[in-house]
Amino acid sequence: MEFTFLGVRGSTPASGNKFNKYGGHTSCSLVQLPDREKIVVDTGTGIIGWGQDLKKNQGGRSLRLSILFTHFHLDHLMGLLFFNPLFSPSTQITFYSSLSPKSLEKCLSSLMGGRFFPVKFMETSSKKIFRKIPPGRFRIAGIQISHCPLNHPQGALAFKFQDKYKSVILATDTEHPENGIDDELAAFAFGADYLIYDAMLTPSEYKAGKKGWGHSTWEEGIKVAKKAEVGRLILSHFNPVHKDRKIDQILSQSKKKLPKTLAAKEGQKIIL
Ligand SMILES: [Zn+2]
Ligand SMILES: [Zn+2]
Repeated sequence: MEFTFLGVRGSTPASGNKFNKYGGHTSCSLVQLPDREKIVVDTGTGIIGWGQDLKKNQGGRSLRLSILFTHFHLDHLMGLLFFNPLFSPSTQITFYSSLSPKSLEKCLSSLMGGRFFPVKFMETSSKKIFRKIPPGRFRIAGIQISHCPLNHPQGALAFKFQDKYKSVILATDTEHPENGIDDELAAFAFGADYLIYDAMLTPSEYKAGKKGWGHSTWEEGIKVAKKAEVGRLILSHFNPVHKDRKIDQILSQSKKKLPKTLAAKEGQKIIL
């Protein structure tokens, strides 16, 4: 199984040479088995460049892919409007979310159309299928997927992707409980090879007025990673005001408490 980070920022994209190391695009990830259908998680701005490359490499051949949504905040959605394959008749996309198929279609149609965008979502040329994520485990293209609710305004899901050998947990948007740790997430992540966790805020930023905003810190990520006994913690969903140097600092502080911690980088691929 391969897991690729296409965008590792939260809230808004960040640009400029102080953001080159970790990248400036918002949340988007790619999961796949070799030569199988691709699974995209969230359509932040990280999907845009990937979509352009995909279209170039695809030539006229047809493309099938699945897109899973963790939730619908704009940082996880804004790239869909500029995702080239959406506009191609040779693309078939199956969209998965916690909403009913009708509500999902309505939600995406409200983003593309109205006063917000010149092209209506359902008038784009790709073939679209809408699915509600089933309870428990399900499978796409040979990968087993399960999910767990996160503490985030309007709700969000963590996903677990698992093949025969390895597993990775993606928990990009979550706020830790006031006291203790999120036991449900720790149980869900238990024994996973990788835990990708929301490191949007530093502990001091969190204390200074960001309680209730739905995000967490590297320190809380370490607590969950330790309790869940995961192989490696990967910090992600970085604050768009945190420049490379700041993320370097966050990573070195984290490594003091959990030496195997990594920081997600746009374009980075993990082969599991
Ligand atoms: Zn987010
Ligand atoms: Zn969110």
